[in-house]
Order: sequence, then C-alpha cells, then structure tokens
Amino acid sequence: MKILIDRSEVDRRIGEMAREIATDYAGSPPLLIGILNGAAQFMMALLDHLPGDMLEQIDYDFVDVSSYRGSESMGRVELTKDLVVSVEGRQVLIVDGIVDTGRSLAFVLDLVSARRPCSLKTCTLLDKSARRVVPLVVDYRGFEIEDVFVVGYGMDYDQRYRALRYIAAIE
Ligand code: 5GP
Ligand code: MG
Repeated sequence: MKILIDRSEVDRRIGEMAREIATDYAGSPPLLIGILNGAAQFMMALLDHLPGDMLEQIDYDFVDVSSYRGSESMGRVELTKDLVVSVEGRQVLIVDGIVDTGRSLAFVLDLVSARRPCSLKTCTLLDKSARRVVPLVVDYRGFEIEDVFVVGYGMDYDQRYRALRYIAAIE
C-alpha cells in the first residue's frame, strides 16, 4: 500500500468542504443521505466540522446499494437498504465516499429525486471522474484521483482497511 493522501490533508480538505456546505446551506440545513459503507466515516467527519447551530437542524440517514460486476448483469445496481426518513420537500445532500463509473450515485439520485426533495445535490470525498460511464454533477468534491484502487476513510479491500484515516492506493 502506498499513501496517496495523508491524514492531515484529508482532515484539512473535509474541513474546507464542511465550511463550503455550511455557507451554501446557511439558514436551511440539508438532510444528508450517506451511501453505505463507504460514506459513513466521511459523513461523520463532515458533521464534526459543521457549526453547532446548524447541527440542531440537520438530519441524516443512509441507503445501501450493491452493484453487480459480473459480465451478464454488468452495471446493474440494486437497493439493499432503503431510507427511513422522508425526503419530500427537503434539501437533500447525497454523500458518497468515492464515485467511479457513477452508476451507484446515479441510481441513488434517481431514487431520491422520484421522492420530490426540494433540492438535491451530491458530495463525494473522492472522484475518479476519468472512469465515469454515467454522467452526473458532483457538487462537492474532496479530491480528484487517478484510476487506482484506493482504501481508507471508508473504502475497503475485501471489507478491510475502511478505518484508516488516510487514503492509500493498493499496488
Ligand atoms: P460506481 O458505481 O461509481 O462505479 O462505484 C462506486 C462504488 O464502487 C463505490 O461506492 C465503492 O464501493 C466502489 N469503488 C470504486 N472505486 C473504488 C476504489 O478505488 N476503492 C474502493 N475500495 N472501492 C471503490
Ligand atoms: Mg459503495
């Protein structure tokens, strides 16, 4: 494993993103929707950096999706855990750990937008935009990374290394 983004750089950037989100949503805090498991650690870190008065009005929930990478069902995404909260009329910010082809995030965007939120934006810690298959808008992007397989900060390799506080590339 090779460290790609060290702990202090990840923390610094998440603080910056949180300040941007706090400014953009001032007076009307968002409902955060995290995509499991990759977004969990990042979403909690974002919340750590948001101002206390905003936290009084912020809600969050999680969805989980799985994608098939086998040849036959290549690219199919399935919902494995739905939301508990209602998104209707809410200002929704979808949070993911990494966007690769875009299929997972596009799927969640479709799911949420069908439930009529009053606004809908996206946020990801990492973006491999060169790999995008489904075009989509990323409103808040932590880091643009190259086409390498990464672990840490929620990202796993066979369910391992999620808890790392830095981002590493598997060589
Ligand atoms: P997409 O649907 O955008 O192709 O893929 C998004 C999902 O693929 C992520 O939520 C993550 O689970 C997985 N993924 C894509 N690239 C990586 C990577 O470099 N490392 C890890 N650990 N997971 C990845
Ligand atoms: Mg995922």
